Amino acid sequence: TSFGFKQVREDEKSKLVGNVFSSVASSYDVMNDLMSAGLHRLWKDRLISKLNPFPGMKHLDVAGGTGDVAFRVVERIKSVSHRATQGTLTDMEEDTHIYVCDINPNMLDVGKKRATEKGYNEEQCLSWVQGDAEALSFEDGSMDGYTIAFGIRNVTHIEKALSEAYRVLKKGGRFLCLELSHVDVPVFKDIYDIYSFSVIPAVGELVAGDRQSYQYLVESIRRFPKQEKFAQMIQEAGFEAVEYENLVGGVVAIHSGVKL
Ligand code: SAM
Repeated sequence: TSFGFKQVREDEKSKLVGNVFSSVASSYDVMNDLMSAGLHRLWKDRLISKLNPFPGMKHLDVAGGTGDVAFRVVERIKSVSHRATQGTLTDMEEDTHIYVCDINPNMLDVGKKRATEKGYNEEQCLSWVQGDAEALSFEDGSMDGYTIAFGIRNVTHIEKALSEAYRVLKKGGRFLCLELSHVDVPVFKDIYDIYSFSVIPAVGELVAGDRQSYQYLVESIRRFPKQEKFAQMIQEAGFEAVEYENLVGGVVAIHSGVKL
């Protein structure tokens, strides 16, 4: 478990690189807040409530980027173990481990830096692993939980990512996916269409100076399978008790399943 400290040293070595990417990441976060009117924070909180993390758990957050989901898992476990052990974090220090996996090392660098700022690496419960959701480096049956937030839409072969999620989970382990989805509410759907096709690319150009990326974002949301279809794919990967919850009329959906 010296992993946390090793990461800190690496961070220091690449301070310059880190500085460059923290400016990218900060505009990324500003855009997230702007595009979702701050709602992505509540959506992530909801994801964590559903996950219901516990002290001692092994958790994998894929496409974990700058650590937004992982930090919430740590916070939740901290508050639970505080209650359970009246202030001592023994359970958490010894057993809990959250792995953040992302294909982009620059995103991970920003996450590592943030973790250091928050003092999380000193608890040695976080690891940052570069890797592809379609070919995870983790062992079969090694995780109690798997989350992926706003990530699976970017994966080339969704089926492969799902079967990898299934593979790395223990029996009883839970899969949770937070993703931009499909609105199916009359009138609201029309408003959302105008918002996504006109407003998002315009704001992307204005704030991030990058219209194309945000156009791509909107198109990738359209291409992503609808809620029912995606639930079926999760089932086909082997998961049981598959269900989903729409948030804001389906702007976002949380899909979940259990490996039995
Ligand atoms: N989960 C974070 C959040 O909710 O703020 C980050 C979401 S960000 C929109 C998408 C992330 O997915 C990026 O950090 C990107 O590098 C990562 N990603 C894209 N394709 C991936 C893949 N095949 N495997 C792992 N990560 C991937």
